[in-house]
Formats: sequence, C-alpha cells, structure tokens
Amino acid sequence: MRLRNVSGAREIMEESPFVLQDEADQQARKGHWKDLFGNDNPIWIEVGMGKGRFLMEHARLHPERNYLGIEKYSSVLVRAVEKRREYEGDNVYFLRMDAEDLTSIFDKDEIAGIYLNFSDPWPKDRHAKRILTSVNYWNRYDQILQPDGRVIFKTDNTGLFDFSLEQVEAAGWELDYFTRDLHHSEYAEGNVMTEYEQRFTNVGKKICSLCAHRTHR
Ligand code: SAM
Repeated sequence: MRLRNVSGAREIMEESPFVLQDEADQQARKGHWKDLFGNDNPIWIEVGMGKGRFLMEHARLHPERNYLGIEKYSSVLVRAVEKRREYEGDNVYFLRMDAEDLTSIFDKDEIAGIYLNFSDPWPKDRHAKRILTSVNYWNRYDQILQPDGRVIFKTDNTGLFDFSLEQVEAAGWELDYFTRDLHHSEYAEGNVMTEYEQRFTNVGKKICSLCAHRTHR
C-alpha cells in the first residue's frame, strides 16, 4: 500500500474513540478485550486491515461477533476511521500497531478467528519473517487463537500463496480448504471484497484463498 502522508491523520487517530494506539493501554487489555465490547461475543481480528472496507462490512453482517482491525500506518487507518464514523454498531475497533506484537496484547485463546487479506508479499529471501503467513506468524497466531480457531487468507499473488501453503504445513497447521480462484469456487458465497481485492478483480486477476487450523490442539 502506498504510504502518502495524509494531513492530520495522527490527530484524527488521537481523537477517535474507535482507535486504540497507546501500547501500554493495548497491553493492559490483554485477556480483557471482551470488556471493551461489554459482551462475550467471539472476537475476530483482521491483520493488515488497510482502509477497513472488509472489516466494516463484516461488522455490519455479523453483529453477533466483535471485530478488531490491526493496522500499522495512520495514513491508511484514517480511511477506516472515516468509515467507522458512519456506522452505528458497537462491535468494531481499530488497533494501530505492528502485528509482530500480537502476543503482547492478546492472551491465549482470546481470539476466535483471524483474517489476512492481501498481505504484503515482501522479498521471501530477505524478509520472510515479516510475511504475515510465515511460520513466525503462524506461531504467533497459535498463541492467541481459540482451539477451534481459523485463519483465513486471501491474495492475488500466486508466489506468496505457494509460499503460504508451504508455511502452513511447516508450522504444523492443517488446511480446511484452499482455492486458486475464490470467486468461481464453492467458497465464494458470503465473500466480502477488500479494497485490494476489488482492484485486482477489476483487472481480471484470480484471487487465491486458504483457511487453516492447528492439528496440535
Ligand atoms: N487488507 C487490505 C486490503 O485487502 O485491501 C490492505 C492490504 S495492503 C496490501 C497490506 C496492509 O497491511 C497495509 O495497510 C500495511 O500497512 C499492513 N501491514 C503490513 N504489515 C503489517 C504489520 N506487521 N502490522 C500491521 N499492519 C501491517
């Protein structure tokens, strides 16, 4: 995602009641995220949420779930905040943070499911550790997901998808399904498009997707 300096983004983040960006505050909520929502509904997260279209649409469709959108950059997150202002529900918040700190802020079994949408591919030889579907990250997801929790990943990038399939296995996880053409597959029903997905679909690209769970729990 291009990082333009969106004027006033930081101030908008600071003023928004829907953004939690203070590290100490995030860490203090470890094991208590349900208190933020005031109910026991399952909490789903999207890691690398970008401008928030997918998460906001999910929140609308599933008021029986809670959602946390995780994004590193204010310049992108500010677009999600704009969408959030127009939504009257109370089941979605955003965390400005680096996903490498997920285990500092979420407790064991605290998360019901994880969405990874169009994650940055990074050069695999030099920066594999940064890829959100690398073994390092599957190990982090393992520490925060409920025993029956699922990770659902979408991408247009076939190289990243192949890498991700290998990493699922290397991390000791198991696939529920995978497809290299999501929109023409049996898993298309109920699919919510992200900003990137819409863009790639408009130029005729196929979307790959996988869903995985652990075998060792
Ligand atoms: N999910 C959105 C979509 O499909 O339209 C955005 C996709 S964009 C290619 C990837 C996003 O992930 C960017 O907004 C980037 O800032 C965010 N991101 C990448 N690595 C991250 C990390 N370690 N922690 C939090 N966000 C991250």
